[in-house]
Amino acid sequence: MMPRECENCGDYLSPYNVIGQRAYIAHIVPKRHIESVMVHPLNRMFLCVDCHTNYDNWLNKDIVKMSCWPIAVSRFDKFKHLIERDEYKHLRECFKELM
Ligand SMILES: [Zn+2]
Repeated sequence: MMPRECENCGDYLSPYNVIGQRAYIAHIVPKRHIESVMVHPLNRMFLCVDCHTNYDNWLNKDIVKMSCWPIAVSRFDKFKHLIERDEYKHLRECFKELM
């Protein structure tokens, strides 16, 4: 399932990475607190370690400028109806605006 390249910067994603391929799987909305889509197959992007760290830690205003943001939005649009109303508060602001 994993592409060869980071979905943000295009860097090569090595299947033999010592830290493991799991490091490349970025959850579009956090698994923590938003359990309704925790294991949804579209709730993920494949990002290199640097882009994954940025995606998880940057502010909303910077995330929406990332190359992978349109990918995140198009996948989010396909599973957002499954997110429970009481989980909305755990969404980042940039996703709340899309609900
Ligand atoms: Zn990257």
